[in-house]
Amino acid sequence: MDTELLSTVLAKRKQPAFRERQILRAAQHEYVSGWEAMTTLPKRLREQLTAEVPFSTVKVDLEERSKDGSVKLRMLTHDGFPLEAVLMRFDQPHAKEGEKQTRYTACLSSQSGCALSCEFCATGKMKLGRNLTQHEIVDQFLELARQRQRVGEGRIDNVVMMGMGEPFHNYDEVIAALRTLNSPDGPGLGARRIAISTVGWVPGIEKLAKEDIQFKLALSLHAPNDNLRGSLMPVNRKFPIERLMQACRFYQDQTKRRIFIEYLMLENVNDQPEHAKELAKLLNDQPGQFHVNLIAYNPTGTDFVGASDETVRRFSAILQRADLETSYRVSRARDISGACGQLAAPIEAAKRAQREDRLARAKAKVADTDNAPTPA
Ligand code: SAH
Repeated sequence: MDTELLSTVLAKRKQPAFRERQILRAAQHEYVSGWEAMTTLPKRLREQLTAEVPFSTVKVDLEERSKDGSVKLRMLTHDGFPLEAVLMRFDQPHAKEGEKQTRYTACLSSQSGCALSCEFCATGKMKLGRNLTQHEIVDQFLELARQRQRVGEGRIDNVVMMGMGEPFHNYDEVIAALRTLNSPDGPGLGARRIAISTVGWVPGIEKLAKEDIQFKLALSLHAPNDNLRGSLMPVNRKFPIERLMQACRFYQDQTKRRIFIEYLMLENVNDQPEHAKELAKLLNDQPGQFHVNLIAYNPTGTDFVGASDETVRRFSAILQRADLETSYRVSRARDISGACGQLAAPIEAAKRAQREDRLARAKAKVADTDNAPTPA
């Protein structure tokens, strides 16, 4: 919820100092379902809060369930901007007795839409609506967590900022939200269970390197040279690979942590043996500092085709021979367009509503001045 609004209302209602923490703990740690369920609060206060502080800053307007057990929620902000969050379910076939049999990762959005227009990504096609506030980011998590709670399936294990948007275009709000998710009074997720994925926005990487909490960093590289990367990701013109690698070096020097490289496998585009060799050479400039995640392409209505399993195996073998650790990720929730790169929702309507609202307010203001009493 909007915690600033909450503080203001609690002060106005002359509530004791412990109240805010009590409420936030119930909402963010115990995942209670709404104001009416906060039975530890005086009834009158509950009614006041129901009237004055929306329990969530986002409203779920569509829920879709994948065959693989993942769930996608489409939500709207109070001013009508769409965003999506996905709860991915991973069964653990090798879990030992007493260990969790199923793990859940929440994939959250940092923006409604995105300004970066990567060729293979559906969110890029919808352009940027607006940045999300820290409350809207935390509330995506809480909507998913409450849903888990309702079906009695335990807590969420990991968070990835890999939904809509570029997290480092909205740096402060994203970090504030992740600090809340990390806090023991909140969901209490360890920093190592929280990952930020960036298109390669250098100022963000350098800033993250200096934070006092170290979240995991994933870098969407997708190509081993500027020519190819520039044709797939326009952002490469602003921050070419050499500049990116310099930022990675700085991050690794500051944090002593590895960076996860994301590499989308596109047939006959970036999946050939020479690309693998070039990638190995690039990353081995800083030996042991990178882990490569090869990613299957999820259809987004473009002409790209995903590389075959055989090609992925060959590519991966070349990297491993060069001492790079690799893994291959096939996305969850593909059947409900909930997989990487597939999140998109029309923002035109929201933008139009915002324009109309501004216009109506301007008109009301004019009318107001027209009716103002003339000074005597
Ligand atoms: N803006 C951030 C996070 C958004 S998407 C970033 O660029 O990293 C999370 C990941 O999904 C990124 O690695 C992105 O490049 C990848 N992705 C985009 N479109 C995809 C697609 N069609 N199939 C698979 N992954 C895709």
